[in-house]
Formats: sequence, structure tokens, C-alpha cells
Amino acid sequence: MNIHEYQAKALLRDYGAPVSDGRVVLTPHDAKTAAGELDGPLWVVKAQIHAGGRGKGAFKEAAAGEKGGVRLAKSVEEAAEEARKMLGHTLVTHQTGPAGKQVNRIYIEDGSGIETELYLALLVDRQTSRISFVCSTEGGMDIEEVAESTPEKILSFSVDPATGYQPFHGRRIAFSLGLTGKQVKQCVALMGNLYRAFTEKDMEMLEINPLIVTDSGDLKCLDAKVGFDGNALYRQPDILELRDETEEDSKELAASKFDLNYIALDGEIGCMVNGAGLAMATMDIIKLFGAEPANFLDVGGGATKEKVTEAFKIITSDPNVKGILVNIFGGIMRCDVIAEGVIAAVKEVGLQVPLVVRLEGTNVEMGKEIINGSGLAVIAADNLSDAAEKIVKAVKG
Ligand code: GDP
Ligand code: MN
Repeated sequence: MNIHEYQAKALLRDYGAPVSDGRVVLTPHDAKTAAGELDGPLWVVKAQIHAGGRGKGAFKEAAAGEKGGVRLAKSVEEAAEEARKMLGHTLVTHQTGPAGKQVNRIYIEDGSGIETELYLALLVDRQTSRISFVCSTEGGMDIEEVAESTPEKILSFSVDPATGYQPFHGRRIAFSLGLTGKQVKQCVALMGNLYRAFTEKDMEMLEINPLIVTDSGDLKCLDAKVGFDGNALYRQPDILELRDETEEDSKELAASKFDLNYIALDGEIGCMVNGAGLAMATMDIIKLFGAEPANFLDVGGGATKEKVTEAFKIITSDPNVKGILVNIFGGIMRCDVIAEGVIAAVKEVGLQVPLVVRLEGTNVEMGKEIINGSGLAVIAADNLSDAAEKIVKAVKG
């Protein structure tokens, strides 16, 4: 689960991290009041969407002006004006995809004078099963680009969970970032606080880009991007409250309410599969036959008819879906339950695209009978490659 920058900064502030004073606003009217509460003489007006690259992004609507989603202002009036221009408009960044995201919240901050922009992140390193620090002198840039062109400018190391964070970790970061004097002490404290926030709040990712040295020589977190482990949210009620459902893919949101493992993708073949491994294999084989999957969907082992119906509805609600492939290996899951769910869903939402069904395993004959007796135009398939070939052919001709 991701949160907005202003929420992440409030959280980090609670952990003692240096961030600017700021106010979040939903309307242009509040923008002026909020900007007036900050000292100036520089204000930063920042679009709050769950995507990075806002500064270099661009709005779709001309009314939003030429500038991106992070704007500097020199007066309260100018700050309010920039907020007004951005609110309600669609910001496109390299992370939003071409559709962009509507800006419904604006964060107005006290502007900082910047001496240097640095990069810092904490993440769960799956290779070492530890929390890793990643830092670089190349802040404010796309870290993927830095990793590609100048990997030697990135320092990364993991922390032994048995000892936890130690001051030498912070000093190592400070020296690699070229920090001096009081900044070293600040860095050691800041890294400790960030590590504590990361572990206590079950974060998956914490990215400060840029971490800056201000014109007065102090460290400050100028941006903050935080993602939490969805599996730990049950024990993080205060974090769950920060969830902004309007930022999430509506299909993924619906799926999470029904406990379905669903990830929206860009392709044209909707997939309904049981088991993550089989779902991956199904996506692979769709690609092998020359098409792209529209989603990853594992309905799980113990899916009910209602769950299958819901899954089918989610798949068909995607306008990019030009065909559906149901691929079920019934072990714990029974083929007749899947068949009933598919029929119920089709009766409810209709079937505008070709549907290929491959059933195998428990109660497979019953499942096939249910589908054959339904009068639906379902294309039956016998195995995985047969199924993939048939749906790709039905869609691409
Ligand atoms: P992002 O583009 O979504 O990553 O948004 P950031 O919060 O990282 O802002 C983008 C850029 O705007 C930063 O790299 C800075 O160069 C600039 N910026 C952000 N806040 C300030 C500020 O307080 N003062 C100044 N001078 N520049 C800022
Ligand atoms: Mn940033």
C-alpha cells in the first residue's frame, strides 16, 4: 500500500526526521489560507498523487499551465494560484502511464534553499532477506537511470537484523555522500530514525529523493515515497487509515475486497487461473502465442462461486480485454464451482468477447457438463497450450 508524500512526511516527522512545514489542501480557497500560514519567502506547491516524477511531469489540460506537478512560488497569492491551476487536472509522469492521474490534493510547503540533492532509499532486499540502504550523490534524478549509466555512484548495503541499525551504518552513508561537519551527526541520527520507522511500520520501501543539504548546511527530506507491506496492514491500523482508495486501480481495489490476487496489466487477454504458478505459466504461454495478458489473477484454492463471479466481473470490466482465458487445474478447487461461477457471471454481465475454458482435475466432467449445458459460446480447450493458442486465435484472427 502506498501513501501520499504529505502523509509520509508527517509520519517521518513523528520519527524525528527533518522535513519542511507544510499544509495539504483540497480546494483553491484553502490554498491561500494554507500558504498564508507558512513563512515564505519561497513556497513549493506539490501535486499529491501516488506516482513519482511529478516535477518533470506535464498536465493534460492547458488550464493547468506549462509547468509540472512541483512548482515554486514567491508569494502567498502565487502559491494559491498554482494550486488552483493544478487541482482537478490530470498529471502525466513517467510513473503514471499515459492516462495520468487526477490531482485532488495539493501540498503547500515552506520552500528550502538547496545546496545539494542526494538520493536515499531503504528497501527489503529479497536476496539477503534484510533491509538495505541505497544512497547516491545523484539525487533528484531517476535512480534507475543512475543505476544504468553510472552504477559506481550508488552505494548499497544491508543491515544485519541481529544487530539492527548501528551508527557506523550512518557514517558509511555520510562519507559516501560527501557530508561533512554537523551533517555527519545529522546523517547518523536520520538514518537511525528512518530505519526505526521502516521496521516499526512494516514498510516495504522508503525513498527520499532528494535528500538535500540546505543552504544553511543541514540535512532535510525534501520528498518522501513510502510503500507498506500489504500483508502487515492488519497490525498497522493507523497506516491503513492513510489509504487513499481513489489512487488505486479500481479493479485491483475490488479484487482486494474479495481477497483475490489480481494485478492489472496492459494486454488484451483476461486470465482467470487458480494458483500463482499456473497463473504465471498461463501469462507466459499467452505471450508465447503472440498476445499479452491483461491481468494476473489467482482466484486461490478455496474460491467460492461468488468469488469466481466477482473475478469474472473484474476481468470483463477492463475495456482492454478482447478475450478471456479460464485455466483451472482443480485440486482443492473444484471444476464445477468454477463453471458455475463463470456461468453466473456471464449471465449477470454478458459476454462480449470470446471465452476459452480449460478445466482439469477434480469434478472436471461435471464442470464441462455445466458449461456445455449453459448454451454459452464457450470454446473448450484440452491443455494449456491448446487453450492459449485458441484464445489468441479468437482475438487476433
Ligand atoms: P518528484 O518530481 O515527484 O520526485 O517531486 P520532488 O518532491 O522530488 O520535487 C522535484 C524537484 O523539485 C526536486 O528535485 C527539487 O529540485 C525541486 N524542489 C522540491 N522542493 C523544493 C524546495 O523546497 N526548494 C527548491 N528550491 N526546490 C525544490
Ligand atoms: Mn522526488
